[in-house]
Amino acid sequence: MAESEFNIIEHYFKRSRPQRDDVSLAIGDDAALLDVPHGKQLVVCVDTLVAGVHFPHDTPAHAIGYKAMAVNLSDIAAMGAEPAWATLALTVPDSDAHWLESFSNGLFELAERYRVALVGGDTTRGPLTITVQLHGLVEHGAALRRDGAQPGDLIYVTGTLGDAGLALRLLLDSHLPANSSGDALLARLNYPTPRIAAGRALSAVATAAIDISDGLVADLGHVLQASKVGATLRVDQIPCSGAFVEIIGKKSDNSDVERYQLALTAGDDYELCFTVPAARQHLLPPLFAALDCDCTLIGTIEARSGLRCVTADGAAVEIKQPGYNHFQ
Ligand code: ADP
Ligand code: MG
Repeated sequence: MAESEFNIIEHYFKRSRPQRDDVSLAIGDDAALLDVPHGKQLVVCVDTLVAGVHFPHDTPAHAIGYKAMAVNLSDIAAMGAEPAWATLALTVPDSDAHWLESFSNGLFELAERYRVALVGGDTTRGPLTITVQLHGLVEHGAALRRDGAQPGDLIYVTGTLGDAGLALRLLLDSHLPANSSGDALLARLNYPTPRIAAGRALSAVATAAIDISDGLVADLGHVLQASKVGATLRVDQIPCSGAFVEIIGKKSDNSDVERYQLALTAGDDYELCFTVPAARQHLLPPLFAALDCDCTLIGTIEARSGLRCVTADGAAVEIKQPGYNHFQ
């Protein structure tokens, strides 16, 4: 599709906003040329969204474009880095102008908000698949990694958990309520907020961080493994939104168990989970007061390996399904 491939790139992806003076050569040559400033490290991540796997087939194109950029911004946030440049590998079944217009608008909405320049990509025909690669910058040695958690550190999460997972479950069962709570959950699934400012601020405070894409238990598990530590989580402290609590409460007699289960294991939240030494705990309230999200203390890192989930009275909570795994 040589001719229409060229047109697609020209019409939908070759936008000049945002302007970045560190882009020497953008879309149009064989590759992009980017200037990495002295003293900074390049932070690179890539995420693929496959129709029917990562989002339902009938998801609006605008949301797909937005989310493809958001999930990558979330990885950059979890590294404590500042996003800079993106590439887009787009596979579409046909060149539907309406779809491409909405998709590119969704993608550029976030790109412009976070000053990310789209500097290249690849366009092919096939089953709908979107791969965004994002490049960020961080001061040398200042990145937030998964392997820095220490026994005694406190475990926090930003925002609320479980909203996206509950939205997806209700959507697939055609039970998503047509009211403001249903809309709030759906927005969390389709338009996740990357915690870029929180990640940047935490790079000076946290010992480890990860973004929650596969569910808290699974993702915190990666931190524990990389840091060679264990943890106890207080499941009753997990922050949940008003919409989540309202809908779960109506749906089920056993709302506490369902709440824990979903909030602990559902993916797609794109909040940050991070660890902070107890001696630096006092730095968090002023730090988060300047941000557009809250953070909540949910547990403690311990030397003993494994993850223990308990309620307020210390009773153990068993987690049924630890997180999404594509190959299971
Ligand atoms: P090549 O044949 O050298 O791989 P292409 O024809 O695939 O080049 O792409 C031409 C230019 O358009 C390149 O600069 C490439 O990075 C860019 N490009 C292709 N597809 C996209 C896309 N979906 N989004 C942004 N840039 C793209
Ligand atoms: Mg190419």
